[in-house]
Amino acid sequence: MKLDLPLCLFNRHAPRRSRVKWDGLNFVGHCRFCEKPIRRMDKGRWVQDQIEKIKSSDL
Ligand SMILES: [Zn+2]
Repeated sequence: MKLDLPLCLFNRHAPRRSRVKWDGLNFVGHCRFCEKPIRRMDKGRWVQDQIEKIKSSDL
C-alpha cells in the first residue's frame, strides 16, 4: 500500500468528484485516498462519515 494518506490520518479527506452525491443533508462520497465514506461538513472540509457507521451498526 502506498503511503498516500497524510491528511486522512487527521480525518481530512478528499472526495472522488465524480461520485459525490447529495443525501438531503450533506454531500457524501468516498475518499479518493482511503476509500472510506466521507461527508462534507463545511466548504472544503470532508470528514469520515459517522452517520453511515451508526446506520450500519443499527441493523
Ligand atoms: Zn481519506
